[in-house]
Amino acid sequence: MTAFSEKIRSYGLRIAFVPTMGFFHDGHVKLMKEAKKHGDKVVASIFVNPAQFGKNEDFGKYPKNLERDMEIARKAGVDALFVPTSEEIYPKGFQTYVEVEKLSKILCGKFRKGHFRGVATVVLKLFNIVNPHTALFGKKDLQQLHVIRKMTEDLNLPVNIIAADTIREGDGLAMSSRNSYLKPRERKDAALIKEGLDLAKSLVQRGVLKTSTIKKAVRGHISKSSLIKIQYLEIVDSSTLSKISSINDAENCVIMTACFIGSTRLIDNLAIKGK
Ligand code: AMP
Repeated sequence: MTAFSEKIRSYGLRIAFVPTMGFFHDGHVKLMKEAKKHGDKVVASIFVNPAQFGKNEDFGKYPKNLERDMEIARKAGVDALFVPTSEEIYPKGFQTYVEVEKLSKILCGKFRKGHFRGVATVVLKLFNIVNPHTALFGKKDLQQLHVIRKMTEDLNLPVNIIAADTIREGDGLAMSSRNSYLKPRERKDAALIKEGLDLAKSLVQRGVLKTSTIKKAVRGHISKSSLIKIQYLEIVDSSTLSKISSINDAENCVIMTACFIGSTRLIDNLAIKGK
């Protein structure tokens, strides 16, 4: 991978990089196509990163289909697909980790201890191996995007981070490899999550300012399904991801949630004021 990258760079060409865990959907494809606009060559990676999964999480059953992914990547214009093994990324004796301290402890980080430490560590490693000029990440994983931006800034990484909008299914459900876990009834009810986020936006547009009032209404909507358990639902300042009590407390606000549908954990977010 590094030899390929060095060669591309020796021609004076630019590399745009899309790190993923595979089992591609249109959200991934959007990132790959967007990458074409930011680099002469597009590199994507597939690595289901053990370091970002908790003990009782879905590492062992995370969906995979390398043949299909290769075909999708090729069609999306990816020039190189990097698929390292766990042993290559974490050889015996591995003991160095990166932690974006505060950002990693809030929201998803409260419930997934060590998750963002695993994410930051693997992304830094992938940046060092691939050596891209630009890397693209989806806003679907908004906290991850913030963690990576902060790491890039704090550690002076020479990588330009680009964010891409969330791609959704027809009923609004954010695309995710994990949607494949959903049983038919769960899949149907999953649409309530985005509906709830939309409701928050419409309340803001109608002048509701108190975030507790908005969150209560959204919880009520999502909880129409007995299959859904809300792990957290927060309205935060889009620039810091810190909680706000009034929509007037921030120029840009986003509502963020993690919900369990059965044993499947899904996350989503929506800008409800500004960008
Ligand atoms: P994953 O394979 O789930 O780790 O995701 C790889 C990249 O794709 C990350 O930057 C994600 O934020 C992004 N991504 C995942 N789902 C979507 C989506 N529905 N829309 C846009 N980007 C996404």
